[in-house]
Amino acid sequence: MSYRIAVLRGDGIGPEVTVEALKALAAIRERYGHDFAYEEGLVGGASIDELGVPMTDETLALCQSSDAVLFGAAGGPKWDDASTDFRPEQALFRLRKELNLFANLRPVRSYPMLDEMSPLRPEVVKGADIIFVRELTGGLYFGQPKMRWETPEGRRAVDSEDYSEQEIARVVRVACELARKRRRKVVSVDKFNALISSRLWRQVATEVGAEYPDIDLTHMLADTFAMQLIVRPTQFDVVVTTNMFGDIFTDEAAVLAGSMGMLPSASLSGLPSGRTLGLYEPIHGSAPDIAGQGIANPLASILCCALLLRYSLGLEEEARVVADAVTTVLEEGYRTSDIHSEGTSKVSTQEMGDLVAARIREPRG
Ligand code: NAD
Repeated sequence: MSYRIAVLRGDGIGPEVTVEALKALAAIRERYGHDFAYEEGLVGGASIDELGVPMTDETLALCQSSDAVLFGAAGGPKWDDASTDFRPEQALFRLRKELNLFANLRPVRSYPMLDEMSPLRPEVVKGADIIFVRELTGGLYFGQPKMRWETPEGRRAVDSEDYSEQEIARVVRVACELARKRRRKVVSVDKFNALISSRLWRQVATEVGAEYPDIDLTHMLADTFAMQLIVRPTQFDVVVTTNMFGDIFTDEAAVLAGSMGMLPSASLSGLPSGRTLGLYEPIHGSAPDIAGQGIANPLASILCCALLLRYSLGLEEEARVVADAVTTVLEEGYRTSDIHSEGTSKVSTQEMGDLVAARIREPRG
């Protein structure tokens, strides 16, 4: 079968890690005979430098006509000048809006061989395996009114948490569909006791939960959840929450995996049916402090390919082969600098990519 994949490498370590992800896809192509057609577009600072804007209409059109978008990272100090109109991350915001990427999925799992890297005790993180589903296009970051003004008493500002029942229902459905292929547990996180928007969130989540009698959907207050995530992360399977809570909790959860360099994400425009347009990006940024040194961990970007194969191309076996190859390479003791510890073999970005691609081509055993 033939698939179109838009590749947006971006800035900093974005291009370095994306090259290694493409090696993993090339290995899948070799092993299974799929036809992956890649088309490249500029985004972020690279696009500002070349074309004057964070993303052109042509690049947007390229993404809209593709089966999936593989994204590196955007941004860096070079484009941090507050006096300019354009910022690299505007490309990402525009893509989310124009492609209607309303559900942001972040799988967070512990790898037994990396548990010692987590700031939490190994026995706490051991076995943690969670998928966060963050609502991405509504809520506090977009609600109106959003303004600041002067009053006789001083300055004031307001943001609005605004959700329609449709916005809530569609993202909770994504969570329930994901749970069906996992341990069938969904926790919906809100602030029911303080926010009227959270009361609607809880009501709609409960109604959607009733459509899925096979799923155990429960609710948790955001403050309780913040604590439980650190105290006993293994209790969670799928977690669904609002844009702002998701933003905060997914970063908190990142510590479970030991390094930002291990965490992929998917932003979907519909249910995880296997043929949904999605954008796949590591959760880390462009890491300008290590860019160009060949030491960035490419595993988050490679794991993005597993998500891309699963959610946008419907290639479940191939997705598992990529994820298993990553686990195998870690079991064999290979580590990039960010996850290196005594007794393991330190490898470069490129070597790590080559190792994973080799295990995809010729799995062990
Ligand atoms: P960052 O994620 O780029 O880096 C944070 C720290 O983690 C750095 O010390 C970095 O070296 C390390 N790190 C990140 N990814 C790594 C990897 N794969 N391997 C090894 N170490 C890794 O966050 P930041 O420093 O706050 O932001 C840098 C730039 O990236 C900023 O311009 C920011 O706006 C941008 N950014 C972009 C995205 C995106 O494109 N989605 C997300 C976050 C930040």
